[in-house]
Amino acid sequence: MNSKPKTTVTFYNGLTTIGGPMIEVAYGKSHVLFDLGEVYRPELGLSMEDEDFETLLKYQLIGDVPNFYDPQITGKPIDTKRWEHSAAYISHLHLDHSKALNLLAPEIPLYAGPITAHLLPVLNQDGNFLLPAANKPKNYTRPIISAELNKPIQVGDITLTIVPSDHDAYGATGLIVKTPDKTIVHTGDIRLHGYHPDWVHNFMKAGHRCDMLIIEGTGVSWPERVNEENSEEFTGQKNEKELTKTIVQYQKDNPKRQLTFNTYPTNVERILRIISDSPRKVVLHAKRAELLKKALKQDVPYYYLPEDEKIDALDPNLEISYADLLADDHQYFWQVVGHYDQLQEGGLYIHSNAEPLGDFDPAYKPFIENIEKRGIELVTLRCSGHADIAELKEIIAGFEPKILAPVHTLHPELEENPFGERILPKRGETVTLS
Ligand SMILES: [Zn+2]
Repeated sequence: MNSKPKTTVTFYNGLTTIGGPMIEVAYGKSHVLFDLGEVYRPELGLSMEDEDFETLLKYQLIGDVPNFYDPQITGKPIDTKRWEHSAAYISHLHLDHSKALNLLAPEIPLYAGPITAHLLPVLNQDGNFLLPAANKPKNYTRPIISAELNKPIQVGDITLTIVPSDHDAYGATGLIVKTPDKTIVHTGDIRLHGYHPDWVHNFMKAGHRCDMLIIEGTGVSWPERVNEENSEEFTGQKNEKELTKTIVQYQKDNPKRQLTFNTYPTNVERILRIISDSPRKVVLHAKRAELLKKALKQDVPYYYLPEDEKIDALDPNLEISYADLLADDHQYFWQVVGHYDQLQEGGLYIHSNAEPLGDFDPAYKPFIENIEKRGIELVTLRCSGHADIAELKEIIAGFEPKILAPVHTLHPELEENPFGERILPKRGETVTLS
């Protein structure tokens, strides 16, 4: 006699490290997987060519997830008798949540919010964003279904609802998974100090009293830094709106000075706000302008470096010459992406969560030294994409989960659940909800 199926949650990767969560929810013959990223470990010095399937598993950069990856990559068939309904989801377009999406078997549907679904193929058009798919050109991006937000998607016995959230990746979403007897919430990466705290509050309402809340915990990863954040040396910005204001203020305070900046490509909303609020004319490097054009159909002033190839998608009337930018000290606020040796001495460069991202990247220190050596003042203006300790508490209180499962953090044990149980699953562990 068959007993009634139970909901299980398996934690394949991304637990005690920041990034790369891979989690499966299963019920009966249906199962879903989220997300499909790769853990970021620059210290390994691996190039994209080095990252074959074995290497990814060996360094735990991805999870050893059965029955989801492409058999052409794993050499193992998918057990379609056991699993009649499968689907996958990615919460946002950061690489630690998306880079491995081409490894998913082609016949398994992959869902994401509309912005994530539209931007990823553009980001990967040169083939250096995502891991490659089997037997496809390097710049191939497998189909991503642009899901309608807040509208349930049926995967056999399981229902997925993708909801808008807030993170420093444009278009970030969260996920509500319902099986016939349980509700599981996956926050993705989340914060309350971005442009859309109201969306996060709605997400909390929709997932209120869920059976399990899988929450990211980046913000509790560095308990030793708690006092630092309250000190005067802390250069982080309280929220995204403050950050834009500070950038505008630098322009007002420096009417005759070369002013340049860079941000991270996937924080599209930050760059849109910089463009709309800046007193100076904002000029982007052609590659970044192309991203805005292709993904959002937005035209912005741009420039080419001498070595760049022309991009057909861009309006030639909006091109500003690189020579004009190099000579300018009052008209432009422009995105610099290299050749720091050509900038004016005495200028100001704002590094706003651009690459290299920080101390943990071996490229960071030489980068900073190189700019300062040129006599350019370097200002780092950061705003975290992640909830801090207080915000995490607020988010947990908003959901009031029966079980809390912290992932995506160096210290999952520092997230607590006043509303029920807190579990600390091991890599590869399956939890049965009964
Ligand atoms: Zn992220």
